[in-house]
Amino acid sequence: MARDLGAQCKICRREGEKLFLKGERCLSTKCAVERKNYPPGQHGKNRRFKVSEYGLQLREKQKIKRHYGLLERQFHGVYEKAIRMRGITGENMMQLLERRLDNVVYRMGLCSSRSAARQMVNHRHFIVNNRIVDIPSYILKPGDIIKVREKSKKLNTIHDSIKRVREGRLAPYLSLDKAKLEGELLSIPERRDIPVSFKEQLVVELYSK
Ligand code: SF4
Repeated sequence: MARDLGAQCKICRREGEKLFLKGERCLSTKCAVERKNYPPGQHGKNRRFKVSEYGLQLREKQKIKRHYGLLERQFHGVYEKAIRMRGITGENMMQLLERRLDNVVYRMGLCSSRSAARQMVNHRHFIVNNRIVDIPSYILKPGDIIKVREKSKKLNTIHDSIKRVREGRLAPYLSLDKAKLEGELLSIPERRDIPVSFKEQLVVELYSK
């Protein structure tokens, strides 16, 4: 599956916001947005321009897409699916993104970043309801149990990552048993519980033009 392999910190600086693309580094003082909060490039510091309505919608779409690590076609596919669902399209879209296997594995703390989660899913380290799933975009349902495969349980990367999960910091729609290295998607995520402040309505307005 193709991926955006551009410099990740530049993506955050371009959007003027931390998109948490690099795991532990994003929480440290090494974060590029903390150090250089202006767009990349020679004229980044001096760039001043008024952003149009279309520009705002486009930037919001880019932010969400990049935060979840999707390419345009995949992201548009999520939107198409969201419009066919009942309810508010923007919220449906966010719920679908949150229920992706790579995102859930990352949110549980089994991997340090979404890109690491995507790679680990591809490499068949996880089991969903007793079946190996190697599709990062796999959409989980409430009640689905996600486990680390027996032979992958000794991987340092998983243990290093899970050590950083703080009690009480897990999203309310997830549960995690650190000792067993397994967790569950408890419910469909409520928008207010999804820990991102994106304005997904702008994306809906953009795509519905
Ligand atoms: Fe973005 Fe993380 Fe890089 Fe900071 S360290 S700029 S949050 S990818």
